[in-house]
Amino acid sequence: MNVINPATGNQIETYEDEDITEAKAALDTATDAFDSWRTRPLREREELLSDVADILGERKQKYAELMTREMGKPISQAKAEVEKCEWLCNHYAEHADAYLADEYHPSPAGSAVKTSYEPLGTVLAVMPWNFPFWQVFRFAAPYLTAGNVGILKHASNVPGCALAIEEIFRDAGYPEGVFQSLLLPSSSVEDLLADDRVKAATLTGSGPAGRAIASTAGEHLKKTVLELGGSDPFVVLDDADLDAAAETGAWARNQNGGQSCIAGKRFIVHDAIYDEFIDRLIDEFDALTVGDPMDEDTDVGPQARADLMEELHEQVTESVDAGATVELGGEPLDREGAFYPPTILTDVPEGCPADAEELFGPVASVYRVADEEDAITKANDTEFGLGASIWTEDRERGERLTHEIDAGCVYVNQLVKSDPRVPFGGVKESGYGRELSEIGIQEFVNRKTIWVE
Ligand code: NAP
Repeated sequence: MNVINPATGNQIETYEDEDITEAKAALDTATDAFDSWRTRPLREREELLSDVADILGERKQKYAELMTREMGKPISQAKAEVEKCEWLCNHYAEHADAYLADEYHPSPAGSAVKTSYEPLGTVLAVMPWNFPFWQVFRFAAPYLTAGNVGILKHASNVPGCALAIEEIFRDAGYPEGVFQSLLLPSSSVEDLLADDRVKAATLTGSGPAGRAIASTAGEHLKKTVLELGGSDPFVVLDDADLDAAAETGAWARNQNGGQSCIAGKRFIVHDAIYDEFIDRLIDEFDALTVGDPMDEDTDVGPQARADLMEELHEQVTESVDAGATVELGGEPLDREGAFYPPTILTDVPEGCPADAEELFGPVASVYRVADEEDAITKANDTEFGLGASIWTEDRERGERLTHEIDAGCVYVNQLVKSDPRVPFGGVKESGYGRELSEIGIQEFVNRKTIWVE
């Protein structure tokens, strides 16, 4: 695996990838580890997770720089990502015992009936490069603490992050085999998932990868959680605070170089305030600093890989050919590295890539709608259903409309964001299952009914 720094186009590291034989050997180790890990008191597993949080805090700068070098995330955002992982680990270190406590049910006199949450075994995690630490910790912190063991197949452009995360668990004192990173090509995932010793799988990634995993898992009757793509609506109603909506909207679309599943991608704007809003949005996009991701002041770094930037530009070009208007940006920057500028498209025709597909980069599609009803229709006019954001000064109106949007989460006067305390996941082509909170930790457990007479 050759790692290319997307800010320069230069190769920075080469890693030897592994094959299915090595993956099966890792599975032997994982299976052995599970036997004793599952019986370890939950309190001890929580303490180890708390040590992981401490290590993340101590080595924040080192891991942030690693992410920035491998996938181009601006350093300030990379540091925030490490901090968020630390928060997540502390959250489960503190709450896992409550989330997994036996649950007693009403039962006939003389009997005791409860549900207990027991681990499944080895969970295979296939993860993307866009939040190379957060996505991994989002699975590892809850599932390992529940008593499972984990095998990570990370995206091929972030092998350094994959190995660094393995190092963190090792240094925190986790027994060998409880968490392992494999530098495996995606072509080997099917074989690994088919192995009887893998009990469940979680994927965060694109629709095609989701379908491949779900189909193999289905054939072998294994539980999966799929966190897939999104094309989140960002709805601005006639009574919205336009300054706040434009400022937050620019961040929602451009953070992480626009490479976020829950980025606000389709801006759906009420006719009454459209002209005022679009001017503000253009100003906010234009004010973002694009440049060296190692610079603390950079807002938007390069796209994670040159081929991904080219794919994004093709989607923009096709949309413009179909009739979309470029209000800002729209061309790769004339400099070394995979830099694409914050871009705004209006007059976006139905069915063109900017309308119908996920644009995984800093490109906003903006629509003018006649009224609230049209706004909701447009918001739901997508194959995806991950998140949505609604802007209105009338909180009751906002709350009412949340129920009309087909998405895994809807935020009013706030950008869509993940938070360890609340469930996260999608509907429709954005996947199924939930991560985070008590619901996340209960995804990969045997909810065992125990009846004692
Ligand atoms: P991707 O190409 O699907 O890759 C994700 C992971 O799946 C990588 O480890 C990749 O390995 C692997 N993979 C790809 N094809 C596979 C296959 N056929 N079988 C098994 N594994 C396969 O996605 P990406 O480009 O890295 O990430 C961007 C996508 O992830 C976007 O659609 C984004 O919206 C989505 N995403 C969703 C969430 C969420 O929580 N819902 C969060 C973040 C990102 P290789 O790298 O070796 O190909």
